Amino acid sequence: MAPDLTKQVLTNTAETVLARRYYMKDAEGNPVETWETLCHRVANAIADVDKDSPNGENLREDFFNMIYRMDFLPNSPCLMNAGTDLGQLSACFVLPVEDSMDGIFTAIRNGALVHKTGGGTGYSFSRLRSKNASVRSTQGVASGPLSFAAVFDAATETIKQGGKRRGANMGVLRVDHPDIMDFITAKQDQNRFNNFNFSVAITDAFMKAVEDGTEYDLIEPSSKQVVRSLEAREVFEKIIDLAWHNGEPGVLFIDTANKANMTPQLGEFEATNPCGEQWLLPYESCNLGSINLANFVEKGKIDYDRLKTIVESATAFLDNVIDCNRFPIPEIEKMTLQTRKIGMGIMGLHDMLIQLGVPYGSEEGRETAGEVMRFIRDVAAAQSEKVAAVKGPFPAYDAKVNTYPARRNAALTSIQPTGTVSMIADCASGCEPYFSIVMVKNVMDGDRLIMVNKHFERIARAEGFYSDELMSKVADSGTVIGHKEIPAKWQEVFRTAQDIRPEDHIAMQGALQNNGVDSSISKTINLPNSASREEVKLSYITGYQLGCKGLTVYRDGSRDSQVLNTKDTS
Ligand code: UDP
Repeated sequence: MAPDLTKQVLTNTAETVLARRYYMKDAEGNPVETWETLCHRVANAIADVDKDSPNGENLREDFFNMIYRMDFLPNSPCLMNAGTDLGQLSACFVLPVEDSMDGIFTAIRNGALVHKTGGGTGYSFSRLRSKNASVRSTQGVASGPLSFAAVFDAATETIKQGGKRRGANMGVLRVDHPDIMDFITAKQDQNRFNNFNFSVAITDAFMKAVEDGTEYDLIEPSSKQVVRSLEAREVFEKIIDLAWHNGEPGVLFIDTANKANMTPQLGEFEATNPCGEQWLLPYESCNLGSINLANFVEKGKIDYDRLKTIVESATAFLDNVIDCNRFPIPEIEKMTLQTRKIGMGIMGLHDMLIQLGVPYGSEEGRETAGEVMRFIRDVAAAQSEKVAAVKGPFPAYDAKVNTYPARRNAALTSIQPTGTVSMIADCASGCEPYFSIVMVKNVMDGDRLIMVNKHFERIARAEGFYSDELMSKVADSGTVIGHKEIPAKWQEVFRTAQDIRPEDHIAMQGALQNNGVDSSISKTINLPNSASREEVKLSYITGYQLGCKGLTVYRDGSRDSQVLNTKDTS
C-alpha cells in the first residue's frame, strides 16, 4: 500500500534549518528544493547504485519513504551533497599524522580537503616526537605535538566548509606521550584550540597504575625509549580537575576500542572522529545515519516488525553510500573501500521511552534501550551478510583472522550526536535525554514565549494538568521535578539531562555500548554545577569498568558560553 505522504509536517525549526543549509539554492541563494524534492534527490542518488538490479525501483521508493517520513536520516553531508556535483557523503574521517614535516603538512592539507566537503576529522598526535626531542636534519629541537596542533587549528579556522558546516576536529594524545601534561592543560585557556575537541587516549596499563597507585612510563615515540615516569594518580587527577572545570579533555579508552577492532590485520585504532562515536583506522572514513526511534511506538509498544524493515533498508542505503561517494583523496577511498564501515545509530531514544512511559534513568529504561540497540545491530548484521552473499564481503575480510561471518561492512553501528538531523526530525538527539521540557524565550516588550515539549504538552492536556501557569513555573525552575500538579509518574518520565543522575547517564551509555554498538557512542555525562571532582572521577572509573570506549563529562555552567540553556533568555 502506498504510504500516506501528506502527513509529513515539518516544524518551523526544521524548515529554517533545511532552508539555510540543506536545500539546494539558485544563483541568488534562494532555496530551490522542498523536503520532498530533497528526499527524492537523496533517495535516487543512493538507489542508483542498484539501478540494474531487479530490485532497483523498490529501493528508490523504500529509501524515499524512510527519509521523507524521517524513520531514518543519513548524516548531514549525505543530505546536503547526494546527487550534487560535490558528492561527498560522509561525516567522519581519521587522518594519520606522521612524525615529519612532510607528514604533518600532508595531514593539514588532507584535513582541509575533508573540511571543504563537510566532513569532520580526527587526528592522533601520538606519533609526533615530543617537545625538545632532537631533529636530526636541522640539529635543532622539535616543537612538539601541541605547537603543530595549533597549526591544524588555524587551518580549520580559515576553511568554513562551504558555509554549511564549520570544520570539526578531534585531537588525541596517548597518556604515555611525554608531552601529555601540556596536552591535558592546553584548553585551560578557553580561547585556544576552538576547532578541536581534545581527548586523552587512556591505556589499560595507565588505569592499572591508577588503581595500584604506581608510576607509569612515558615513551618517546621517535625512539620508543622510556624517558620518564609519572604518578598515574596525579595525571588522572589533573585530567579530572580540568574536565571538572570546563569539560575538557575528554577521555578515550584506546585499549578497549582496539580489543573490538574488527580488522586488526589492517592496523590499530589511534583516533576517533570529532564527536567520538566512530573509531577509525588511519585514512578510513565512515558514513553515518540514524534510526528515529520516536517513530516506532504503536499503542504503547515498540513496533519491531516495522523497525526491522527500516533497519534493513537503512543498512542497504548506508552500504550504497560507500559506492556513490566521492572521496576527497585517493588514500581515503582506498582504505574506506577495504573495510566499508557504516555507522548506523539512533535518535529519539528519549521520545521512545516517553511514549512507552519509561523513565530514561531507570533500569527498565536501560533494558529497553539495550534491547532495541541489540535488535538494530542484529538486523543490520543479517542484512550486511545478505548483501555480502550478492555483492561480496568487504575486501579486507579474512576468514583466517576474522572469526565473525563474512559480511559487507566491517563495522555497522555507532551512536552519533545527530546535532542537526535531530532538529530536522524534531526529536531528542542521539541517545541523549531531552535537555529541557519547557523553555522560555523573552521576546519584545517583555513578553514571554513559552515552548513546551510536544510529548509533555500532549500528556498534560490529555490528563488535565496543563496550564500556562504550570508551564511558566516549570520553565522558571528548569525541571518538572517537585511540581505537585504533575503526577509522580510523569515527573520521573520527564526527567531531563540535568535531573538524571550522572551514574544513570553512564549506565545508559554502558547498556548501549554492551548491546550492539560496534564502534562507540557520542554522549555527555551531565553533572550538576555542585558536583565534586570525586564525582567526575567516579564517572570515569565506572565508564571504564562498564566497557565504554570514551567518556565526556560536563558540569552545568562550567563553560564561559554554554550552547544549550534550560532558560533561554536571548
Ligand atoms: N561533524 C562535523 N562538523 C559539524 C558537525 C558534525 O564535521 O559541524 C561530524 C563529526 O565527525 C561528528 C559527525 O559529523 O562526529 C556526526 O555529527 P552529528 O550527528 O551532530 O551530525 P548531523 O548529521 O546531525 O549534522
